[in-house]
Amino acid sequence: MQSATLEFEPLRLPADVQRLRSEVRDFIQSEIAAGSFNPDIPTEDWDVHKAFAKKVASRGWIGLTWPRQYGGQERSFLDRFVVNEEMLAANAPTSVYFTADRQSGPTLIKYASERTKSEVLPKIIVGEACFCIGMSEPDSGSDLFAAKCKATRAPGGWKINGSKTWTTNAHHADYMIGLFRTSPPTTENRRHGLTSFLVDMKTPGITCNLIHQMSGIRDFNEVVFDDAFIPDERLIGEVDGAWKQATTELAYERSGPERFLETFAALRKLVELAGDRPDPRLADSIGRLVAELHSLRRMSVSIAGMLEAGREPVSEAAIVKDLGTLWEQELPQRVRHAAAFVSRDTALYDDFEHVLQFTARIAPKLTIQGGTTEILRGVIARGLGLR
Ligand SMILES: Cc1cc2nc3c(=O)[nH]c(=O)nc-3n(C[C@H](O)[C@H](O)[C@H](O)COP(=O)(O)OP(=O)(O)OC[C@H]3O[C@@H](n4cnc5c(N)ncnc54)[C@H](O)[C@@H]3O)c2cc1C
Repeated sequence: MQSATLEFEPLRLPADVQRLRSEVRDFIQSEIAAGSFNPDIPTEDWDVHKAFAKKVASRGWIGLTWPRQYGGQERSFLDRFVVNEEMLAANAPTSVYFTADRQSGPTLIKYASERTKSEVLPKIIVGEACFCIGMSEPDSGSDLFAAKCKATRAPGGWKINGSKTWTTNAHHADYMIGLFRTSPPTTENRRHGLTSFLVDMKTPGITCNLIHQMSGIRDFNEVVFDDAFIPDERLIGEVDGAWKQATTELAYERSGPERFLETFAALRKLVELAGDRPDPRLADSIGRLVAELHSLRRMSVSIAGMLEAGREPVSEAAIVKDLGTLWEQELPQRVRHAAAFVSRDTALYDDFEHVLQFTARIAPKLTIQGGTTEILRGVIARGLGLR
């Protein structure tokens, strides 16, 4: 059997992209200095997220890659990469627009009706529309195509009944792009029978029940649909054919720097604590961690280049997510070991400990959200022609 190969073409970020990085970094530094947010621990204060989204929008950094016709800037995925990377490294409060900018907007641009696009996309661009992802259900997470939450025909549209779960920010969201069962699967194609709709979260018949995470964070929900009506024009793509766009959406979701930077604050704090003349054993540990992070970044930048070239690097994105989430998951523990070689008698250490405990608490979820390690390895094996 001939196996396919995986490609990560090396790519250097051009000078104009690096200039954008400096601009974003200056903006973030001034926001931190002004006390807009704390870069050490992400905030759950939604007012902070809303205010920040407006500021980012006013700089033109939401929908950076989208067509001008929909309010975008037609800039490259590399530009988007650096904006995103700087925001994530600083734990910036991007939750209002993050999902919409990354995947919901691009999905609408490709598959929604012109009416929906002209109504919804401008709200994303100005930082006013928050999106959530309605894929997982109580009995179907990894096996997305086993979804049961049902959309049945009604005059002028569809009625939705059932529930979604683990839906991040559903309680704040204005819209969901959800995957609903409109027909049974066929024997030829078990992915058949699911349809994507844009759901207005204020529709009567939708209830969000918050689920608490072990980290103390309360940002995901069970979303219950009880005869919620969705008009026909909110269809995205083809009836029964949502599997086509669902896979593309996952390539956007899996390859970005959010897949290795969620616990980055622990490393930043360690470097602060190490100071100018660290113990050689500490310097060695930091060197290793930074070298690994650099490799992950190069892979992720390479994928941004492939997206820019119009390709769909599904397997490569799965590799970045697999390696990246395992790395960020282990980071708090590795940072804890490296910190054996620092002095504990400083105020900086207390601060470091606080961040370390928080990152350790969020670590378990990192290899589950966006597709588990086992599922990603299945995707990679399929991409290589091994299954
Ligand atoms: C913090 C967080 C945020 C999330 N946000 C969202 C969101 O906004 N929207 C959304 O739709 N979902 C969201 N999810 C859900 C997430 O996508 C699912 O949890 C994930 O896909 C796994 O599905 P599951 O929980 O049903 O686990 P299961 O699919 O039941 O898996 C359980 C275990 O079995 C393994 N397994 C399952 N199938 C196979 C197989 N074929 N081969 C080998 N092993 C297998 C899995 O790897 C896992 O270890 C979020 C999850 C988390 C943790």
